Amino acid sequence: MVAENYKEVQKKIDETCSACGRDKDEVTLIAVSKTKPVSMLMEAYEAGARVFGENKVQEILEKYDQMPADVKWHMIGHLQRNKVKYIIDKVSMIHSVDSLRLAQTIEQEAAKKNIVMPVLIEVNVAGEESKYGLAPEEVDSFVEEVSAYEHIRVCGLMTIAPFVENPEENRDIFRQLKKLSVDIDAKKHNNITMSVLSMGMTGDYLTAVSEGATMVRVGTGIFGERNYLR
Ligand SMILES: *Cc1c(COP(=O)(O)O)cnc(C)c1O
Repeated sequence: MVAENYKEVQKKIDETCSACGRDKDEVTLIAVSKTKPVSMLMEAYEAGARVFGENKVQEILEKYDQMPADVKWHMIGHLQRNKVKYIIDKVSMIHSVDSLRLAQTIEQEAAKKNIVMPVLIEVNVAGEESKYGLAPEEVDSFVEEVSAYEHIRVCGLMTIAPFVENPEENRDIFRQLKKLSVDIDAKKHNNITMSVLSMGMTGDYLTAVSEGATMVRVGTGIFGERNYLR
């Protein structure tokens, strides 16, 4: 089932791109494989998936060794500072930078390995109390601060939209994130680009694509429901 699902999701993304005049190569489908076994990740891999999203450091470490070397791992979940060192040379992007202290730790650990870590700033657009992320009005000064860090490259913004029944309810959230990225881009901070917009999950990824997402994070739609009691 996983291979069919993956291809179907990719096809819908491609169709939505052509319907709204976007090039399909502008959008990267991230297969969110948290809680799922490597055998299922391999099914997605065989269907063409090369970018996998995980939200736990331990899980990335376990799967990293078992999956082919051309897989790109994206850390999409809340990241504790004391765990940065374990994944700094294993992930190709961290989507969830939400504090200066975390950014400082990433800077230090990346410097030790002599790499530049691509990151996204997580923004809590809807202002939900249960969620991590900066308030939209905090992002510009945050970006200004991080632009001085030599081992971090801010590539754009990420948001986790509220859980809704009807994806249309999140359209305005996606518009707000897009507008914020355009506004910040216009300030031309040193060393910062706003080329990545990571938004949209199983319930609303097509709405996100139509509002400018360049990365969508789809878990359930590819791998099925997650069972956290496993
Ligand atoms: C789990 C998760 C997803 C995927 O959610 P689905 O609704 O299963 O597609 C996307 N983004 C983040 C940050 C997640 O933690």
